[in-house]
Amino acid sequence: MKTLITNIGELTTNAPAPEHAEGGDDLCGTMHDAAVLIDGDRIAWVGPAAEAPDADETVDAEGRALLPGFVDSHSHLVFGGDRAAEFEARMQGQKYAAGGIRSTVAATRAATDEELRIRLRGFLDEMLAQGTTTVEIKSGYGLDVVTEERLVRLAAEVTPEVTFLGAHVVPAEYADRGDEYIALVTGEMLDACAPHAKWIDVFCETGAFTVPQSRRVLEAGIARGLQPRVHASQLGPGEGVQLAVELGAASIDHGTYLTDDDVTALAGSETVLTLLPGVEFSTRQPYPDARRLIDAGVTVAIACDTNPGSSFTSSMPFCIAVAVRDMRMTVAEAIHAATAGGAAALRRTDIGRIAPGLRADVVLLKSPSRVHLAYRPGVPLVEAVWKDGVRAV
Ligand SMILES: [Zn+2]
Repeated sequence: MKTLITNIGELTTNAPAPEHAEGGDDLCGTMHDAAVLIDGDRIAWVGPAAEAPDADETVDAEGRALLPGFVDSHSHLVFGGDRAAEFEARMQGQKYAAGGIRSTVAATRAATDEELRIRLRGFLDEMLAQGTTTVEIKSGYGLDVVTEERLVRLAAEVTPEVTFLGAHVVPAEYADRGDEYIALVTGEMLDACAPHAKWIDVFCETGAFTVPQSRRVLEAGIARGLQPRVHASQLGPGEGVQLAVELGAASIDHGTYLTDDDVTALAGSETVLTLLPGVEFSTRQPYPDARRLIDAGVTVAIACDTNPGSSFTSSMPFCIAVAVRDMRMTVAEAIHAATAGGAAALRRTDIGRIAPGLRADVVLLKSPSRVHLAYRPGVPLVEAVWKDGVRAV
């Protein structure tokens, strides 16, 4: 089955120098009056609409914008309960602390697989409707062997990008016994979870895990064939970024408080810095300065970090708008970070761009330009979504 999407007013390919692109330093590899041919689950052809090949079905984009599906490389979608009251209190002045995670843990342990699955699928539906075609999902609200295994297993039903985050915080029953909990995470819990996961993650932060503890977790995961990624420098500066770079992590996520040495280390590495604008928005923290990172040569991604505590948005367009408004990214940089950047953060080369041979994950907007994603915050602008070549929205 071949589908031709034609009469595309503005095509964002993210290809460095597509044959017919405008060239120069255009990060988005923009083409106008373009067409894209989908064959099966792959992109088969990209070029001027006037030269488009034949297809079984033709979709007229009516001059609107088409871009790669968003790659959301950081989320926590398998959990029970709700923390609206905590959010409301925070907006009235209460400070965000890592310990709030424990209230979600109790609700998650009490939920059945089916309850968690229904909720998870609901989040995925709302993400797809907002243009997200790839989602990474972390565990981390079980914090015991049985529940963590359930969370990674449920996540693996819906995405290949599953992250074992048993080291999210120390659960209440291990209070003041952090090292004993780390022994559980790197032993029995890792044994149960590794078969369902691709990634190992740790929350390396005051109130969560120390740098030596984080190193133990990541090295144990690597020894089991998992690839590292790290939550660090969200609430204050620390050595988590240096650890991530040293261990070759695909991504360090948050990075709100970075030293000049952190920025230099990231710029000289393959590690992506994943910015999570919804977190600063929802916790009323200062925003990281993306301008400083990009100008230093750091590869950045944007993700939602959808979770019940610190960022309960699932909207990549919203995060793009905030990144442009408050992190000093250009619109092109923010859109690139939400697509190709997310793919880099997941070490994926088959998504995040529109080029022959890549997965046919594309989003058609209701608007003539991708700029509208930041220019019209909060407005539902997604007209249609193809995921693996199938019209999903
Ligand atoms: Zn997170």
